[in-house]
Amino acid sequence: MGTVGAVALDVHGNIASATSTGGTPHKLKGRVGDVPIFGAGGYSDNRYGGASATGHGEKIMRTLMSRGVIDELRMGKTAHQAALAVTHGIDNVGIITLDKEGRIGAAHNTPFMPTAWVNDDGQIQVNMGNDYPFG
Ligand code: ASP
Repeated sequence: MGTVGAVALDVHGNIASATSTGGTPHKLKGRVGDVPIFGAGGYSDNRYGGASATGHGEKIMRTLMSRGVIDELRMGKTAHQAALAVTHGIDNVGIITLDKEGRIGAAHNTPFMPTAWVNDDGQIQVNMGNDYPFG
């Protein structure tokens, strides 16, 4: 049930993103959602960062939302600013982001999108709301 997304940076500077979903309710048979579309449900580029998206897949596909995060990072936004920028004005979507330095971002306007991350002290942090402590 539901969607799980992850973005990670290893000690060698490799960034990977992964997204898994059961799709949307009442989807048509044969529908291909955003998740397997490179740049839509997920994207990563070692030079800039990575992202994993959730929510209404048709909107995520139309905007290539995860690839859009890379464009925002290239223009100098933080990971969190990039997450806010790509979800702005698009209903029922959410995204988690990471830049090449390991800085985190997230934004959502879905009813619910719990997030978790590992802080600099190695502790797991959890956020159930929409008030993220990222800059
Ligand atoms: N994005 C998925 C889809 O449209 C659903 C989800 O992640 O909530 O298939």
